Amino acid sequence: MKTIPLFASAVLALLVGCSEQPASAVAPSVTDDALAGQAASLPQSEAAPAMPAGPVVVYSSRQEYLIKPIFDRFTEETGIEVQLQTGEEGPLIARLQAEGNATFADILYTVDAGNLWSAANKGLLQSISSPTLEAAIPANLRDPQNQWFGLSVRARTIVYSTARVQPAELSSYEALADPKWKGRLCLRTSKKVYNMSLVATLIDRLGEAKTEEVVKGWVANLATGPMSSDNLIIQAIAAGQCDVGVVNTYYLGQEQQKDPAIPVALFWANQAESGVHVNVSGAGITAHAKHKDAAIKLIEWLSSAEPQQLFSELNLEYPANAAIQPVALVQGWGPFKPDPINVETAGRLQAQAVMLMDRADYR
Ligand code: FE
Repeated sequence: MKTIPLFASAVLALLVGCSEQPASAVAPSVTDDALAGQAASLPQSEAAPAMPAGPVVVYSSRQEYLIKPIFDRFTEETGIEVQLQTGEEGPLIARLQAEGNATFADILYTVDAGNLWSAANKGLLQSISSPTLEAAIPANLRDPQNQWFGLSVRARTIVYSTARVQPAELSSYEALADPKWKGRLCLRTSKKVYNMSLVATLIDRLGEAKTEEVVKGWVANLATGPMSSDNLIIQAIAAGQCDVGVVNTYYLGQEQQKDPAIPVALFWANQAESGVHVNVSGAGITAHAKHKDAAIKLIEWLSSAEPQQLFSELNLEYPANAAIQPVALVQGWGPFKPDPINVETAGRLQAQAVMLMDRADYR
């Protein structure tokens, strides 16, 4: 089996600090002209005759370096070509909506269940029946209507300064609202969907009033204004600007690859009760896919052993397929209990979470 050595991901992590598209990095592999050429030859009605197997067109908010090697392996194995259109999730979803049944996108692939839920809620995805996906992907990591499937798992948990904090002082996301952390907490902006999803799951678990109290407590404890990336939080903790923060674990992996001695460690939040907040990157078949069978084949293949392992190697994530082990660096963080809540909750309660964070003055 072909694998990509860890050092390659270290280099990539240095080049690009985040797993999603930055605002400026849109690098389509399919030109709009090429798509316009296809438009002329494609029937517009939903009752179109069966199309040949591919190419499968994927609209993806994930950066090309994280997924292209995986899609290339699929093409090698199946002969089905994959055309990638990458961009930010908001514009990609808007584009899918604007294109309607004329779209060439067969698959929408993005990070965070909040984004996938939003696309499904706009009627942009379709339910599929796939015993392969239902067997490979745990039920809480996919849409209850099977409109999208988690393909890799990210854990969002607490990080702390190994110089100034004892792990015994830590327990839960909620406890970071305790006044003992005043002036010691760093958080990423509430505009990031990762935090909307975390707060959405808190609302589901604690109720709105208690969650608002918690978020107000976080805001009162901030050492500095909300930050634009998880990497900056980890670097601020290492530099002594704050003592604790909340990040997706692969960002710590990136920082550890740059500096193995970085004085920041992970703490698995809420192990005594709900478990660590996990989210997914995932994909769904678009409502007007022209190559549905090939697209299903691709998503099914993505849930199999080799690509599942590649997700872990390329972005230091956890495989969604529980039968596959993550890479050594990720395994080194130890086992944890994940929150078993269906990640779909992150989407369903997203608007409520955004309003709550606004009321709590979390910017
Ligand atoms: Fe990310």
